[in-house]
Amino acid sequence: APETRAALVTGGTSGIGLAVARSLQQQGLRVAVADLDRPEARAVADHDGLTFIPADLSRRDDCRAAVDATLDALGSLDVLVNNAGFQHIEPIRSFPEDTWDRMLAVMLTAPFLLMRYGWDALSRSGAGRVVNIASIHAQVASPYKSAYVSAKHGLIGLTRTAALEGAAVGLTVNAICPAYVRTPLVDGQIQDQARTRGLSPQQVVEQVMLEPAAIKRLLEPQDVAALVQYVVSPAAWGMTGAVLDLDLGWTAR
Ligand code: NAD
Repeated sequence: APETRAALVTGGTSGIGLAVARSLQQQGLRVAVADLDRPEARAVADHDGLTFIPADLSRRDDCRAAVDATLDALGSLDVLVNNAGFQHIEPIRSFPEDTWDRMLAVMLTAPFLLMRYGWDALSRSGAGRVVNIASIHAQVASPYKSAYVSAKHGLIGLTRTAALEGAAVGLTVNAICPAYVRTPLVDGQIQDQARTRGLSPQQVVEQVMLEPAAIKRLLEPQDVAALVQYVVSPAAWGMTGAVLDLDLGWTAR
């Protein structure tokens, strides 16, 4: 059958989200990207022919508006990729409370709200797909990442719950858990960690970030997009509630 599906990718103007949006578009889906309203974000979306939906997904109203805008622009919503996120590295004893709230809002509450508001549209085809971009930090912890680890662990619980609820309407809900991917988010972390630990960026990658990994090489955004491509394919109809590790062997030990 010809591809007629429409997708919404959050955080889709940078890093993993942009790679996912491009790969879905290459498969023939119509793709909207929801992201913070910055000129660079709009420029990236315009350049790639992606429908840009300005949204601060820490806000409930913006989550509602993002679903409405996708349906207005594309006419349906068949695939939702919850990808927007950010990191903050600081010990619990000084972790800023507002940053905690914002991280939980963007990385756990927004996926809930987007599914809630998009549920009927996602159910319509009988083969809807939700893909939640979690993290290896949904499975294991690292110090100084309390909000990130908590939000991502929570996202696994949300994924499994939604999978059970979506099964009756053919809506699959899965999570992908990558280890470190070469993106602006990780470039920022490398700089942060180099500063807090007094190491060179190269040492941070090899000795700190990839210390628990068996394969000592950063993933690329396209590696995650390739797995998303399978999960949203018709062939993956039987995979739901799955937590898919793409973790360089991190959790094999
Ligand atoms: P990135 O910084 O390149 O992209 C994240 C995008 O999310 C940005 O476009 C940003 O503007 C957007 N975003 C942030 N807050 C938002 C908000 N309030 N409203 C709307 N959009 C918002 O980061 P990335 O590395 O591509 O990360 C994408 C996802 O993958 C995140 O959920 C991240 O936790 C996860 N992840 C990343 C890695 C990695 O190593 N890079 C590993 C595992 C998981």
